[in-house]
Amino acid sequence: MPERTLPPGSTIGILGGGQLGRMLSVAASSLGLKTHIYSDEANAPAFDVAAARTVGAFEDKAALAEFARSIGVVTCEFENVPARALEIAGNETAVFPGPKSFAVAQDRLGEKDFVSALGIAVAPYAAVDNIGDLKEGLARIKTPALLKTRRFGYDGKGQMMIHTLCEADTAWETIGEVPCVLEGVVRFEREVSVVVVRGQDGEMRFYDAIENVHQGGILATSRVPARISQSIAFEARKIAGAIAEALQHVGVLCVEMFEREGETPHLIVNEFAPRVHNSGHWTIDACLISQFENHVRAICGWPLGDVARHSNAVMTNLIGADVDNWPGLAAEPGTAVHLYGKAEARPGRKMGHVTRLFPKTSD
Ligand code: AMP
Repeated sequence: MPERTLPPGSTIGILGGGQLGRMLSVAASSLGLKTHIYSDEANAPAFDVAAARTVGAFEDKAALAEFARSIGVVTCEFENVPARALEIAGNETAVFPGPKSFAVAQDRLGEKDFVSALGIAVAPYAAVDNIGDLKEGLARIKTPALLKTRRFGYDGKGQMMIHTLCEADTAWETIGEVPCVLEGVVRFEREVSVVVVRGQDGEMRFYDAIENVHQGGILATSRVPARISQSIAFEARKIAGAIAEALQHVGVLCVEMFEREGETPHLIVNEFAPRVHNSGHWTIDACLISQFENHVRAICGWPLGDVARHSNAVMTNLIGADVDNWPGLAAEPGTAVHLYGKAEARPGRKMGHVTRLFPKTSD
């Protein structure tokens, strides 16, 4: 067992208090571990299921240091955690995954440079710091292209489609004239992700590849098994493993990819998340050990758990008012309902998810 093994009864600190922190807390509790949630929101969904809570800003040095002193390890449930917060926590206790995973994932340009330096395909891209860069990028990459802010984009936010060169000036103004990356639009057959967990000793385990459908930039459904060939599944796993290894990542990491039909390379990495991921929620109900429990095991230095899938599954996000149908969903056979305890069902807000299970077919 690694030196930093946290025994049952220990407390894990989680930066961020959203639904991912909530599901991590529930998983930790099933191993006899406690969680302390640090969030800048007073009514964070994870607070309901945690042993301790701190409401504080991610810039509050004293509050962060006190939080970190009270726990055995710190982890994060959102990827845009400020580097400084990780550094403050790291002065007091262990931080898993380490700062490198976040530094790379937080900047779309750095992420693309990092992934392509590993010999893994990404969409054609260009750094954009001014309107001249954008016009040059468009001339090289051609339209349609996507202009994405380098930082703080999620769920399709912070990005714009550019259909013709004449839209360049308006797009640059609309995106807020902030550092961006311009990406070629990939014509894909399907979107695939791989959730991998890497332990402190470097052992890696991979959940089955997942087929995802996004609507308006937000994940709508994830299904397993993905309708991909064995060679694509092998390639997808290899890519996720190479990224986790290069980052020396500890915990769960999810890599999102596009599968192109009949072209080489077949898989193109879109982005990765250095944390548990929405496309891995089905693992709660269709695997013996979920992505959440495996993240907890990895950061606490426990043996990694069995990632085998016992059922086919389709996970559907409940976005905004979808959640109002909870009585109907709760009555459906073969369906697990997960609600995040958020008070207000705003449009586009992830309120919960359902996982429908089916008998397992071969992959
Ligand atoms: P992102 O915020 O980068 O995860 O993008 C959200 C979704 O937008 C992706 O899951 C895709 O469905 C779509 N998308 C993003 N980038 C591209 C691209 N370069 N080509 C085609 N579709 C994309």
